[in-house]
Amino acid sequence: MPIPIFDPFHAPGGALKRLPLLKAAVAFIATVCLCLCGLLYLQLEQSRRYDLESARVASANLTRAMAQQAQDTFLQTDLVLASLADWMQIDGFGPALQPRLQTTFSRRVQSLEQLHGLFLFDKHGQWVVTSFKSLHRGPGIADREYFTFHQQNASLIAHIGPAIRSRQNGEWIIPVSRRLNDQDGNFQGVLLAGIKMSYFDKFFKSFSLDDKGEMVLALSNGTLLARRPFDEAKIGRSLAQEPIFQHESQSMTSGNVTIRSAVDGVLRLYDHQHLQAYPLVVTAAMSEEAILAGWHDRAFKSILIVALVVLGICLFGWVFLRQVRNSERIEADLRKAQEALELIATHDSLTGLANRRLFERALDIEFGRGARQRSPLSLVMVDIDFFKRYNDTYGHVAGDHCLAEVAKVLKSCCHRKADLAVRYGGEEFAVLLPDTNLHGAMALAEQIRQRVIDTHITHSGSPIGYLTVSLGCYAFVPSSLDSIEVFIQRADAALYQAKHGGRNRVAALSTEGGPDPLERSDR
Ligand code: GH3
Ligand code: MG
Ligand code: MG
Repeated sequence: MPIPIFDPFHAPGGALKRLPLLKAAVAFIATVCLCLCGLLYLQLEQSRRYDLESARVASANLTRAMAQQAQDTFLQTDLVLASLADWMQIDGFGPALQPRLQTTFSRRVQSLEQLHGLFLFDKHGQWVVTSFKSLHRGPGIADREYFTFHQQNASLIAHIGPAIRSRQNGEWIIPVSRRLNDQDGNFQGVLLAGIKMSYFDKFFKSFSLDDKGEMVLALSNGTLLARRPFDEAKIGRSLAQEPIFQHESQSMTSGNVTIRSAVDGVLRLYDHQHLQAYPLVVTAAMSEEAILAGWHDRAFKSILIVALVVLGICLFGWVFLRQVRNSERIEADLRKAQEALELIATHDSLTGLANRRLFERALDIEFGRGARQRSPLSLVMVDIDFFKRYNDTYGHVAGDHCLAEVAKVLKSCCHRKADLAVRYGGEEFAVLLPDTNLHGAMALAEQIRQRVIDTHITHSGSPIGYLTVSLGCYAFVPSSLDSIEVFIQRADAALYQAKHGGRNRVAALSTEGGPDPLERSDR
């Protein structure tokens, strides 16, 4: 019969059932770590988007400022050219007027910071008047782009040409020029204002821009006029093939786009704006690396903090899980020890059969069950015949061996799970048979008696020469009024009858207490 051991963690009903603590702890730690990483990702993504958006606004403001400055610079210059051209259109620029013109040119240049100089050329490209005191003498400027442009175009509006080096003093200038006609509309010469490139350079430098950033003033066709950082080799070059000028956003008045430069491979945010009054475009670019430098710094610190927290949680989780595993192992060991103790406390060490303590516990349970279910309960008491003689003849060790053999027979005869074989004391045994009537108990007792003989244990002190047992059976349907002691006494009385009747036999006691007519033996 299985020994009922109380285990709080496997209690019936599951009230105290152990939770899968290990799995729950792992799931909890993993969830916390994932949540932390998720929050970090969302926060970083949001701040990255915010930084890029702020940079977009900043670069749009920068190009607006650049466009406004360029517009003002060219407009002021153009107004000077327009007023002078109108004046000369009427009065001409004959030798008598030239000293006065020179003074006027010189005053205008002094009043406008951006102006390098003002120049008047006749229809052959020769110098007539300049804002400089000394008049430059040389082959003329008939080869210049702006001269041939005005020579071939009747338009009287201002023309902005590619940047050139002044033949006056070698300074880089942006030429703004107007055609001069005579009264009949024939080409008479060109009036030129040179805007200092250094004026834009100074303006560009007044803004804070990263090392890989760029500010450009160019003609709408892509010809570079001024640039930060200043690179002489690029002045006058066409930027038309640069990705930013190729991009479709260029067709819009203003806009921004993030593209990788084909020249240096740097990813930049480009913003551009076309000027309304002049064929000019300004572009400002900031490298994404510089835009996100602060973000990278913050991201590194945040990732480091979260990584440390996650590491701490994992470390704590690892210690906690180890602790849980250890306590589970200790608990399992304790349970095993408890089982072993229970086995020792409830079983006989020589025969391995249940001892009297377990027998009494089982009797209690079976009495209750029998009373509830109105089912019969049987008890077979077994006693080895002439065992004192056996001990005296063969010694105690042989006697112990003999007891173990009889116990084996008892065990082999208990077929049902509920049957319980017990070493009752000394060489006396008992077999408790729940849900078994007297007939069944006697059949089993007879089987035991026969099998003990069949073991052929030689016993010279027995009249038949072999070891035999006497058995007494008693059966009844228990009620709540019956006592265990009386039950055992009745079975004992039946055993006494078997002994008294000559041993090596089975005797039974009816519920009335009289001897049973079914008493059997080999004799
Ligand atoms: P009966 O046929 O009337 O039962 O005669 P018996 O000799 O078997 O009866 P008795 O009660 O006089 O003797 C029982 C003997 O069992 C006495 C004791 O030496 C022996 N005995 C009791 N317990 C043990 C044990 O654990 N080991 C051994 N070897 N012998 C035991
Ligand atoms: Mg005996
Ligand atoms: Mg005895």
